[in-house]
Amino acid sequence: MAGNITFTMIKPDAVKNGHIGAILNKMNEGGFKIVAMKYTRLSKEKAGEFYEVHKERPFYGELVDFMSSGPIVAAVLQKDNAVEDFRTLIGATNPAEAAEGTIRALYATSIGENAVHGADSDENALREANFHFSGTDMYM
Ligand code: GDP
Repeated sequence: MAGNITFTMIKPDAVKNGHIGAILNKMNEGGFKIVAMKYTRLSKEKAGEFYEVHKERPFYGELVDFMSSGPIVAAVLQKDNAVEDFRTLIGATNPAEAAEGTIRALYATSIGENAVHGADSDENALREANFHFSGTDMYM
């Protein structure tokens, strides 16, 4: 059965471009409840750890530099079928391929600076939520 939790980050590009409010609004309109949230900045080391699964990919260095380049909003979201529904709401990795009306189509600027992160499995959603929040910081 699909889980009801996903993990997201509003990435440094979207924060810098003033899109926090609009993106949170899209999450609310999409039926997601925010159960944990913080405004923070990842160190290069922490960003590297978070994206460790992509270590062998050619863009890893660029991704780590970008994700530690400025503040982000990290959040845990709750909804039935959360992971899949949130991936639909954010759209394809490359904003040029993202469906109309999706968060990335509206607010991302490139495949690297693509406005939001969304966990890609229930297992990763839990791992990523626990990476950023302690259990007592989540209000289910
Ligand atoms: P996601 O699950 O849609 O976020 O996509 P991936 O798991 O494939 O990649 C993780 C993140 O790495 C993406 O959200 C982008 O920020 C970044 N990324 C993916 N492909 C590229 C690329 O070709 N170039 C750069 N610079 N970054 C990329």
